[in-house]
Formats: sequence, C-alpha cells, structure tokens
Amino acid sequence: MTSHILSLINDSFCDADGVAVYNPANDQLIARVKSHDSDMVSAIIDKADAVRADWQMKTAQQRANILRRWHELILLNSDELARIMSMESGKPFREAKGEVAYGASYVEWFAEEGKRAYGEVIPGFSPNSRTLTIRQPVGTCAAITPWNFPMAMITRKVAPALAAGCAIVVKPPEATPLTALILEALAHQAGIPADLFRVTPTKTSSKIGALFCSHPLIRKLSFTGSTHVGKILMAQAAQQVTRLSLELGGNAPFIVFEDADLDAAVEGVILSKYRNAGQTCVCANRLLVQDGVHDAFVEKLVARVGQLQMGDGLSEGVDLGPLIDAREAARVAGLVEEAAAAGCAVRTGGTGAQGAFYPATVLTGVTRDMSIVQDEIFGPVAPVIRFKDEAEAISIANDTIYGLAAYLYSRDLGRVWRVMEKLEYGMVAINEGILSTETAPFGGVKQSGMGREGSRHGLSDYMNIKYALMGGLGA
Ligand code: ADP
Repeated sequence: MTSHILSLINDSFCDADGVAVYNPANDQLIARVKSHDSDMVSAIIDKADAVRADWQMKTAQQRANILRRWHELILLNSDELARIMSMESGKPFREAKGEVAYGASYVEWFAEEGKRAYGEVIPGFSPNSRTLTIRQPVGTCAAITPWNFPMAMITRKVAPALAAGCAIVVKPPEATPLTALILEALAHQAGIPADLFRVTPTKTSSKIGALFCSHPLIRKLSFTGSTHVGKILMAQAAQQVTRLSLELGGNAPFIVFEDADLDAAVEGVILSKYRNAGQTCVCANRLLVQDGVHDAFVEKLVARVGQLQMGDGLSEGVDLGPLIDAREAARVAGLVEEAAAAGCAVRTGGTGAQGAFYPATVLTGVTRDMSIVQDEIFGPVAPVIRFKDEAEAISIANDTIYGLAAYLYSRDLGRVWRVMEKLEYGMVAINEGILSTETAPFGGVKQSGMGREGSRHGLSDYMNIKYALMGGLGA
C-alpha cells in the first residue's frame, strides 16, 4: 500500500515480527508495524519526561500555536487519514471523515482551553494571609486507546495533556496503529517535540499497561476500553497511586415515550445504534419503547434499518462496514442466537456472521434480564424492550452496572426533566442520537469509569491544583 501519508511513518514498518494490521472487510494484511517491548517504552518514557520541563515553561499561547498547526495538518490530510482509518477499522469512509473532523476538534479546543487554566485567589482565613491556588501539569502521562475510534480517542487525551504542559506516551490498539502513527508524525511535523508525544504500538499490551502503572515517572494514565481491562489497570495503578481517567463500557438505554416524535426517534436509533456498526461505548444497547407506540415504532424502525447498505467501508454508499474482526462478528451472532432461543423475535437481520460482517438487526420481545441487554452488544443489533410507564422505564434503564450514556425521546418538558435527573448516567441526550462533542464533558458513572474528556473539565484531568498560603502579610 503506497500513500503520501503512509510515507510519513516509514520507520515504523517492519517485515516479520511486528504488529500485523488487517483490513477487516477482506481480511488482507495491510502492514506490519514495529512492536515496542517494555524496555523500549521505558526508555521512551524517560525521554518524554526529560523534555517535559521545556514544554511546560512555554507560555500557553506558544503551546496553542503549535497545537493549532497540528490541527491544521490533520485537516489538510483528512482524506488520506480517513481512507487509512477506514481500511484498518472497517468503518465507512464517510464516518471516518467525520471522525477526523471530530478528532481534530479536540486539538483546536484544547489549544484554546490551555490558555484558560486559571487559578484562584480565595479570601484569607486571617487578616494576615491570603489563600491562592495555581494549576500545574500533572507530569508525564500515559494513554491506552481502543480501535473503535482510532483517532478521536487519542486526540481527546493527547491534546489536553499537551495543552496543560504534560508529556504523553500512547499505546494504541493492536488493530489500528496506523492512524495513531500518522497522527504522531503530523504532530511532530507541526512542531510538537518528538520525544514529548510518542506512540508505541505493541504486541504485548498487558505488559505495557503494567509498565505504565509501575513506572515512577508516569503520573497519570488515561484509558479508554473495556471495564474488564479498566479494573486490571485500576488495581495495578494502586502501586504508585497513579492518577487515572477511565472511560469504560456502557449499556445505553434509548427510551422512546408515547409522546415522542417517532420518526425523529428512529433516526436517532440509526445514528446511535448503527454508527460504526454498533461498536461505540455510547451506542444504544437497549431500546425501551412505551406500550402505546411500541408496534408503530418497531414497524418504522424495521423499514428504516432495511435500507442500510452493508459493505466495504471504502465503497460508495455504504452505511454499515464490517466489525473489527470475524471473532467479534461470531460473538454478536452468538448473542442473537441466544436471544432468539430465549423467545425474542428477529424482525430484520439476524442472518448470521459472514467473515467480519454482521447485518443490521432488530429484536423484539426482549426482557430486562436477558444477556443481550445486560452485556455490551458492541454490534449492529437493537433489542427492543416494552415498558408501561415512566417509573418502569427508569427502573429498567438504571438496572445495569454501567452508567455512560442514555437517550430519551419525549416532547413533554416535565417528563424530560424528571427522567433526565433520575437516570444514573454521566451523559443524557434528549431527542438526539449523538452526543459526543469536544465542547461537552464526556464520561461515565458506576462501572463506566471516572474522569471527563472534552470541555474545560477535560483539561482539569491533566492538571493538579496547588494551594499556596501567603502568610505574614503584616495586617
Ligand atoms: P476493546 O473491547 O475496545 O478491545 P480492550 O479493553 O480489550 O477493549 O482494549 C482497549 C485497549 O486496551 C487496547 O489498546 C488494548 O490493546 C489494551 N489492553 C488490552 N488488555 C490490556 C491489559 N491487560 N493491560 C493494558 N492494556 C490492555
């Protein structure tokens, strides 16, 4: 595969021993990239920490100027970046282009937000003193990112870290290291010092995770991925009390009340459920539909889902690409088979996996205890649960260990407020199917994790507050 943008990462390619990157649409090997072992990553961390002081000493404006150049370079290369992202992740090219714009938006946002890392002056507790706070970068950081958003999950972490004055080392997922390496190359081209931000693909993710948690120079680890791995990292981080941000699994309810605009709700499901073939942590995992509109809603949804085109993400007009690999598609097929055996009706799709592809599927007759709605599906399957009233909807919605995103469709303002406040979730979208934006704090409660990415809060995750007591003022 030749490409102008891939030539930027020439040094990362290797012949036999590296991380193998496949195109899930056709199972072809795209590239092998150099795998970093623990010694290599340890040396990279040492170097990152060594250059951090200079970066921290720059003004926020100077850092912003460099970050903005990175933002421009990402956008200038957006077609090629999107093509490679689509090849390694399977997502439709249109969605990949959307992710490039979305991922870049974090770089621009935090370039600006870094200038607003204000401290405070607090009225003193005695006439003789004043109380101040300043905010300082946490130090050298590490990040571990997933394959479902090969770019945006990196910029969400790297941009605030760099804007705050930190250094950062990123371990990308095995499946999608190319997008990550290109981002790194563009960052260096923009003037971000090479040692300050490094991407370290590896075949030994668990060892690198353990290193991040045990290396004395790593002051913060930011992880996006499964709750299972998040718990492992949390236990490991206890060794050095490494500060953590965890963006973990979700089990998003998508609640449609009787007074909802059903057509809008169907479009919301298409965005929330079938984007990225259902492989996002904020994907609607369960559709909760009120009795009175259940049948009408399902009919509209099934008709709309039937229009989705499945195919290679690089082909024109494709809405649904392959899942990340054939194993994932087989897992999703297993969940649907189990649900069908338990009595659910397969209203569309459900025809089984073909390689990494799984068709857009709608299931009805689902009950709250079934594993299809207790587990994270991470595939293009929408299970529909019927409910009677507001109290039952809230009870079903909150009946999960997760608490990331929730969606509700209603035109009754009182109901919207009541339900929004009672949902035990970090994020609630009302009459909208997509809620991620650089301007808002993204993150969960319960076993969906801790910390927030995006907005001004995303910068705080990379800064410590220092309290200074100015005494002896002689008042
Ligand atoms: P996903 O379902 O998105 O693959 P994972 O939690 O398995 O979720 O993976 C997210 C990231 O965590 C990937 O970069 C993966 O390589 C990494 N990872 C997987 N296992 C571990 C581990 N034991 N320690 C550290 N990182 C890990």
